[in-house]
Amino acid sequence: MRVILRQRPPIAAGLPPIAATYTGPVTPPAAPVDDPFLRAIATRLPGLHLLIDPCDRESYRYDETAHLHPGLPRAVALPTETAQVSELLRLATEFRVPVVPRGAGSGLSGGATGIEGGLTIAFTAMDRILEIDRENLVAVVQPGVINATLKTAVAAEGLFYPPDPASFETCSIGGNLGTNAGGLCCVKYGQTRESVLSLEVVMADGTVIRTGGRNLKDVAGYSLTHLIVGSQGTLALITEATLRLRPAPPPRSTLLAFFPTLESAGDAVAGIAAAGLAPVTLELLDRFTIGAVDDMNDLGLDREAAAMLMIESDLPGVASVAEMERAEEVCLAAGAGSTVRARDAQEADWLRQARRSAHYALERMGDVHMEDIVVPRARIPEMLRAIEGIAARHDVRIGTFGHAGDGNLHPDLVFEHGDPRAEEATAAVRNELYRTALDLGGSVTGEHGIGVSRREWLVEQRGADAVRVMRAIKVALDPLGILNPGRVLPDA
Ligand SMILES: Cc1cc2nc3c(=O)[nH]c(=O)nc-3n(C[C@H](O)[C@H](O)[C@H](O)COP(=O)(O)OP(=O)(O)OC[C@H]3O[C@@H](n4cnc5c(N)ncnc54)[C@H](O)[C@@H]3O)c2cc1C
Repeated sequence: MRVILRQRPPIAAGLPPIAATYTGPVTPPAAPVDDPFLRAIATRLPGLHLLIDPCDRESYRYDETAHLHPGLPRAVALPTETAQVSELLRLATEFRVPVVPRGAGSGLSGGATGIEGGLTIAFTAMDRILEIDRENLVAVVQPGVINATLKTAVAAEGLFYPPDPASFETCSIGGNLGTNAGGLCCVKYGQTRESVLSLEVVMADGTVIRTGGRNLKDVAGYSLTHLIVGSQGTLALITEATLRLRPAPPPRSTLLAFFPTLESAGDAVAGIAAAGLAPVTLELLDRFTIGAVDDMNDLGLDREAAAMLMIESDLPGVASVAEMERAEEVCLAAGAGSTVRARDAQEADWLRQARRSAHYALERMGDVHMEDIVVPRARIPEMLRAIEGIAARHDVRIGTFGHAGDGNLHPDLVFEHGDPRAEEATAAVRNELYRTALDLGGSVTGEHGIGVSRREWLVEQRGADAVRVMRAIKVALDPLGILNPGRVLPDA
C-alpha cells in the first residue's frame, strides 16, 4: 500500500505553549488542632502551604497507575524552598511519619501515590528555572519545573534538554529524576540520568547535601547523583538539579515505515543499529495502536500493516538526508511494504505528537493499563509475538507501542469501561509479560520504575543478593524507613 499522509493545517513549529507557573491557592491553612504532627508543622513552618481538607488530599491519593488502592495522605505540603523541605523531614523523623515526594503525579508505577497517614510533599510550587548557563551548557532548576517548560526555555537560548518522555507536557523534572525517565530520544541521548550533573537533596533526617557540581568530568567519591536518580524518592528528596544541556540540533526529519509482519519490523530495528545509524528516535507501533492513533489523529496511516516504525534524524543538512535514505533502505530490505517521509519540520512535529498520543488514543477505546517491559533489541519480534499469544490466552485487547530503539515496549491493556475482569486479568497478563521479558534477557521496567506495582518482581530480576545490597543502602540512608516506604524494595 502506498501511504500518503493527509494534508493537515500545520501545527506551530516547536513546542506548544505551556502554563509555566504555579497558580494554586496561597492562603495559609487553618492550623489542625488534634494532630500533634500537623500542629508541629503549623508551628515550625507557619508560612508553609499545607493541605488538610479531605477533598484536597484525595487528589493526591493516585497517580496514573491503574488498579492500585493507595492510602489517603494525612496532609499534603507544598513547600517553596529547600529549608521547608528540610524542616518537614526533621519533623517526619521526630514523629516517625512516612513521607511521599510527588511531582506531577503522572507516574505509572504508583511511586507518588498516597500512604495512609503519611505526609505527601508535592513539589508543584518549587517550579523555578534558577539559571541557564550558556557557557557551561547547564541549567539549574527546582524539581517542580515541567519538562516542556524547561525545553521551551532552553530552546529560546538555542539550547536543548534531551530527556523526552511522551508525557513531557505534564511531568516534572523532579518526577523525571525520581524515575530516571526515558522517552522518545533515549536511543541517542540516554535516559534522564545521562543529563544530570548534580543534585541538591534533603536526606531523611533533614540534612541538605549536594552530590556534584557543573563539571562534565568528576569522579570524586561515590556517585550519589547516579544512585539517587531513579530511586523514586526512597533515598532522598531532590530540591534542585543541575542539568546538562546541548546545543539545539537542527529540526528533525522523519520517516515512517510500514511492515507486513512483526518480524520484518524487528529485523529493521536490528538492521538500523547494524548499519551504524544513530537516529534520535526509533519508535514502534503495532497494528492495533496504528489504528487507534489513526482514528484519533486522522493521519492516513497504513492500518493493515502489522507494525510501523517512526525514525527521526536530527543531524544537520545532508547528513540527515543521508541518514534517512540509509534507514529507508534498511527498512525496505527488511521487508517494509511502504515508507513515507514528513515533508517538513512542522509535519515531523505533528507526527511526533501523534506518536506521543498513542496511550491517549488507546484510552479512547476503554480503560487502559500501561506496561513497560524491555527486551534486547534483537528479541523484539519474539516479544511482540508473545504479547499476541498472551492477549489471546487472556482474551484481552493489547496495543503495543514503544521505544524500539531501546528495546522498550509499552503493551497497553484495553478493557471495556468498567469491565469487572480488568484487575484480575491485568494481574495475570502482567505476570506473563514479565516472565517472558525476563526469559528473553530483558527487564520488567525500562523507565516507569518498580514503584509499588512491580515490587514482587525485583528479586526475580536482580537476584536476592543484589536486593540485599539495595536494602543495605536504603537502611544506611534512611534508617527509620520514612522515605517513600513500600516502594521499590519488596517487603523483607
Ligand atoms: C501518557 C503518558 C505517557 C508517558 N510517557 C512516558 C515516557 O515516554 N517515558 C517515561 O519515562 N515515562 C513516561 N510516563 C510516565 C511518567 O510521566 C514519568 O514517570 C514521569 O517521570 C513522572 O513525572 P511526575 O512529575 O509526574 O512524577 P510523579 O509521578 O509525581 O513521581 C514519580 C516518582 O518520582 C518521585 N519523585 C517525584 N518528585 C521527587 C523529588 N523531588 N525527589 C525525589 N523523588 C521524587 C515520586 O515519589 C515517584 O516515585 C508517561 C505517563 C503517561 C501518563
